[in-house]
Amino acid sequence: MKQIIYTLILCFLLLLSGIACKDKPVEVKKQAKPNIVYIMTDDHGYQAISSYNGELNQTPNIDRIATEGAKFTRSFVTNSICSPSRAVMLTGKFSHLNGQQINSQRFDGSQVTFPKILQQTGYQTAMIGKWHLGSDPTGFDYWNILPGQGDYYNPDFNEMGEKSRVEGYVTSLITEFSLDWLKNRDTEKPFALLMHHKAPHRCWMPDTTYLEKYNDVKFKLPENFYDDYEGRTAAASQKMHIKDFCPVNDLKMYDKEGEIDGPLRKYFENQINRMNPAQRAAWDKAYEKEITYFKEAGLEGKELMEWRYQRYLEDYLRCIASVDDSVGEVLDYLEENGLAENTLVVYTSDQGFYLGEHGWFDKRFMYEESFRTPLLMKLPSRFKNKTIPDLVQNIDYAPTFLELAGAEIPIDMQGNSLLPLLEGEAAEWRDAVYYHYYEYPGPHSVKRHYGVRTDRYKLIHFYEDIDQWELYDLKEDPTEVNNLYGKEGYEEVTQTMYTELLKLQKQYKDTTVTNVKLN
Ligand code: CA
Repeated sequence: MKQIIYTLILCFLLLLSGIACKDKPVEVKKQAKPNIVYIMTDDHGYQAISSYNGELNQTPNIDRIATEGAKFTRSFVTNSICSPSRAVMLTGKFSHLNGQQINSQRFDGSQVTFPKILQQTGYQTAMIGKWHLGSDPTGFDYWNILPGQGDYYNPDFNEMGEKSRVEGYVTSLITEFSLDWLKNRDTEKPFALLMHHKAPHRCWMPDTTYLEKYNDVKFKLPENFYDDYEGRTAAASQKMHIKDFCPVNDLKMYDKEGEIDGPLRKYFENQINRMNPAQRAAWDKAYEKEITYFKEAGLEGKELMEWRYQRYLEDYLRCIASVDDSVGEVLDYLEENGLAENTLVVYTSDQGFYLGEHGWFDKRFMYEESFRTPLLMKLPSRFKNKTIPDLVQNIDYAPTFLELAGAEIPIDMQGNSLLPLLEGEAAEWRDAVYYHYYEYPGPHSVKRHYGVRTDRYKLIHFYEDIDQWELYDLKEDPTEVNNLYGKEGYEEVTQTMYTELLKLQKQYKDTTVTNVKLN
């Protein structure tokens, strides 16, 4: 009986406290603004990320971002080249509006960029690594950048205007400086860190740790490695073919005797002369055997082509191995310091890259390998386990970061925040993306072109000293070797794509080309 009375009293008390709690104003713990760690590499093709491919290499740390977050499978740039892509990312605007159409221009740092708005919103901001925009960074509380393209070994850094040479390997140094900044930040404020790697940019100099990696691997040739460019004049006239490699600079055939020559031998010599004796000894030991083989084998024709391809991929992927380690270090730091849950981590590249597709290296073309770029994002407090096939573009990054920070997105930014795609099913999303490349005449001789891509088709117009249209059915011809433009049965698709192209040129205010007519 006593037991029952006690229970009743207890229930009554609990009920009372429950009512009391209900009447009290509910205290919602305010979720702090998410931090942002934006990791961007230079020329990292999606083919060389195991989360996307896995046939070439393994990138377990980069893959962690995809596994714990979101993987975009159709992420594109607006202009596939270094500086222009960086300007698009900062401004959320196409090249014709942000003024950075080609590499050699100087970025106008007085314009509105997302880091500036984040600063005004109370974020502390930092930019560490490859900047490559000519002018000094603006919108950052702290910056420490590589001058120009930067160097792989013992590179110079420009820290807030103070230049000095730092001993070490570039990828490790950028990681170290980024972690130092995170450790010494003001923990009362949210942060946005832009961490921009030089790797895996040409001339693909791996760290001494990885000089032997992939020695025993034979990489499979891409399906269209021996492309004949039939019906594609611009593709036939480029200078970014694997046969255009400088054996010394690109394939590391820097022999002591100086018997192997190439147009970039002097440039490469400057790179290698930056090494300290220990680095140099490791380097010479690693390449000695291959140099001897190359001199003695007298390779020709297909054998020579395939040897070049193999050499290229080994060094390119070795550089990525260091990048993957770096990503692991950053993710570990965030986890160990309780920051993982509420930090958006982004992994992307300034554009994609050809890894032997069409017989090429480099970028620039609107064909998939360089038009597409890897894009992985994780923010466990907001989304998990997603594969996003929608057509997104680097104009979308700035609006995404601003929406996440609770800042207003300027009306003239041309992209859309990706949060609706990340957090749910976007009711409405674009069904076509627009592209425009300008750097011609220029390095690698890729003609100027613009174009439109939908889920299935791509229409490209090459212009300036040429007037050629190309149409691809990406479902039937994913390697883009069959130009359907002008072929019977494609009149309607061509017309639809042309209408879409004009619509996007108008929407994005691209008036750099006028009188666009099919021929
Ligand atoms: Ca690049």
